[in-house]
Amino acid sequence: MMRTEALERVLGTVSTGERGGPLVLVTVGIHGNEPAGLHAMRRVLRDLGRHDVALRGRLAAFVGNRAGLARNVRYVDEDMNRLWTHGRIAEMRRADPVRDSVERGEQRELIDLLEAELGAADGGVTHLDLHSTSGDGPPFTIVSGPAASRVAAERFGVPTLLGLDPLIAGTLIEYVGSLGHPAVVLEGGQNEAPATIDHHESAVWVTLCGSGVVAENAVPGGLARHRDRLAAAAGGLPGTIEVSYVHRLAPGEDFAMLPGFRNFHAVARGDLLAHSDLGNPGGGRTREVRAPASGILLMPRYQGQGLDGFFLGRAAGPAPAASPSGIGPADATATTLG
Ligand SMILES: [Zn+2]
Repeated sequence: MMRTEALERVLGTVSTGERGGPLVLVTVGIHGNEPAGLHAMRRVLRDLGRHDVALRGRLAAFVGNRAGLARNVRYVDEDMNRLWTHGRIAEMRRADPVRDSVERGEQRELIDLLEAELGAADGGVTHLDLHSTSGDGPPFTIVSGPAASRVAAERFGVPTLLGLDPLIAGTLIEYVGSLGHPAVVLEGGQNEAPATIDHHESAVWVTLCGSGVVAENAVPGGLARHRDRLAAAAGGLPGTIEVSYVHRLAPGEDFAMLPGFRNFHAVARGDLLAHSDLGNPGGGRTREVRAPASGILLMPRYQGQGLDGFFLGRAAGPAPAASPSGIGPADATATTLG
């Protein structure tokens, strides 16, 4: 396989001369069409160096899907954020690297780096995986693993999505979380929006401080502006959302969301959300896809890749400050996977 990507795998590692202390692991670009995390991490590394910020412990930042980033596609052969079940990792270890898919080759390199970091860590570990969405909307988090993951996520002051583990198998945070480490995804906003880079940058600083790697008063410009930026972006949203439904697509299905849906859009049962060519051998998206339940629409698929059409959830934390059409009752829980 040709591997010509110039993008580095190791964005940066920063540590004190002394051994020990907490470790913050940041991964970016697991999806190749989500470059905001890469830009944000470069900003943080630049500012750490430029301001000579003192660290206690270690920061390590790695790039995920370099081939996807080089092509600005979510993935080349397969979704790199579905490969991290222990079964699939064991399968990867047994397989001949020459026969790797593009993403499995990426995973093979990344997992060695992650394991080396985790193996050498002798303080607390926090993993932050930076993502963004094809649809517009405010930042939110997804957690996996130990209860401490929620603590790490709640530092951002943005909504946390619960219940995704059974709906999406094989995410990177599921793997790191299964090893007992707090693991958080920040979905920073829309893939190309400049504000998404800001949200990611702020989340990294908040994580560095929350984990004790950087003292709050050592953050260039102060930590408060990072906290405020995240809080402002998520203003009025519920603190916790229980996700209970994913509209799963068939391989090759031609699926198109109606334009204009954002993350956290309130939808009512029966609302027209998308068109699809499923069951129409002649082609053409003649099938209507409607909301099977009332709730909060999340991660509508606008990027044309991946088999998750959209998700539905409901507020499980404090109610939104203003909810024009109301968040539906618990009927979303009764649905099954499509
Ligand atoms: Zn992603």
